[in-house]
Amino acid sequence: MSIYRMLIGGALVDGDAEMDVINPATGKLLASCPRGSAAQLDAAVAAAKGAQPAWASLSLEERKSALIKLADGLEARSEEFARLLTMEQGKPLAESDAEISYTIAFIRYCSALSTKVETIEDGPDRRVELHRKPLGVVGAIIPWNFPLLLIAFKLPPALVTGNTIVVKPSPTTPLTALKLGELCAETFPPGVVNIVSDANDLGERLSAHPDVAKISFTGSTATGAKVMQSAAETIKRLTLELGGNDAAIVLPDVDPAEVVPALFGGAFMNAGQVCLAIKRLYVHKDIYDDVCNRLAILARNAIVDDGLKPGAQIGPLQNRMQFDKVKGFLADAYAAGKVIAGGKPIDRPGNFIQPTIVRDVTDGDRIVDLEQFGPILPVIKFSDPEDALARANASSLGLGGSVWSKDVRRATDLASRMDVGMAWVNKHLDFGPGIPFGGAKQSGIGMELGDAGLTEFTQLSVLNIAL
Ligand code: NAD
Repeated sequence: MSIYRMLIGGALVDGDAEMDVINPATGKLLASCPRGSAAQLDAAVAAAKGAQPAWASLSLEERKSALIKLADGLEARSEEFARLLTMEQGKPLAESDAEISYTIAFIRYCSALSTKVETIEDGPDRRVELHRKPLGVVGAIIPWNFPLLLIAFKLPPALVTGNTIVVKPSPTTPLTALKLGELCAETFPPGVVNIVSDANDLGERLSAHPDVAKISFTGSTATGAKVMQSAAETIKRLTLELGGNDAAIVLPDVDPAEVVPALFGGAFMNAGQVCLAIKRLYVHKDIYDDVCNRLAILARNAIVDDGLKPGAQIGPLQNRMQFDKVKGFLADAYAAGKVIAGGKPIDRPGNFIQPTIVRDVTDGDRIVDLEQFGPILPVIKFSDPEDALARANASSLGLGGSVWSKDVRRATDLASRMDVGMAWVNKHLDFGPGIPFGGAKQSGIGMELGDAGLTEFTQLSVLNIAL
């Protein structure tokens, strides 16, 4: 019998069925957990719908103080959450600690945000005001790479603006989300937050549900397209945070000893399973060999182990399906270029792959053109920065990108011309709760975080008064 429960209408409940959750570091059963049914998802949506008017009519201060209580509750149990996160997701404990700290900080930051009535015209004949109203019930669909932090991208702004929410975690990482449900049960009025775990079979129903006003989705571009289709009939609001194939362009004036550790970190954090990880590294020909060799040394020396083991730097791939997908990319890497570090799964239980550096590859190779979402970094040689920029921009994806140079003005000029939602200079993967987060092209629609993210959980409503 599972010790985990879903949260529906204020009650912690068993699933109509159960399902297994596997520890990716051992390949063994970690826990069994509820598998929600369609009827339970409908009950969660009905509870959220029923609770929404009363929640929206609370004062802003009351809604904010509930969010702060949630952050406090998570902080008090942060060690327990971090260990569970490592066991279900695989990331090293230090990265789990960071994810929990970020989750707490994001909830706190958002609890201080609010929307205001804006007067855009005032007399003599009319006053025109812009109001921001809650949408109703929000469906939040979460992937498996940041199971808690990505809830903190969605739940706080949804709630602070007066919406209620149904959260659907990923089927392979539902446990920390369900634990968060225990805190939510103590914190919010019944129905305001609902958490329903599934076996990858309820996302479509949530996206199509007539009583859900908006879907905030993070996941792959392929699934994002399905969400759009499901949501079309009821004209739902959508925020889609989808796949990335971020390019980093390294100009010849950098000091390789200085930048290579940062490039390596930007590519291999969370075993490369980060939407914003560096997934294509364009390096100028003058420093290409040096950068490749330094990356290979870091990759060979990286400690790949169970995230609970002290000193582990890179954990396993989160699930077997992703592990098999990345093994396919390894085969492509050998065919397309030269593998100078890693290149194979580690012979032990669990989904471990040695960090892999592939050189002498180029655009058009699968390993460069597609999002690998694993510990593989293709390094591409260029001679003209404008050509590198054109190649970086040729992707159908456009989440993030970076340019690295001692000449910050030149790098800034190139970075500002990247077709992405988030461009960096001399860093990658830097984000925070006040900075809008989202992608261009097929990396998504809309923005999360900051004021831009907050307003996506509201309906802009014009009030036009004759004077
Ligand atoms: P996924 O698309 O397979 O699954 C994401 C979620 O969608 C899961 O909860 C899943 O159960 C649900 N789902 C599955 N089918 C559905 C359907 N038909 N309708 C609605 N929901 C459905 O993604 P994943 O493999 O869990 O995550 C990896 C992907 O997520 C990568 O492409 C990565 O780049 C992307 N990602 C993007 C961001 C971002 O902010 N842009 C952040 C993290 C991850």
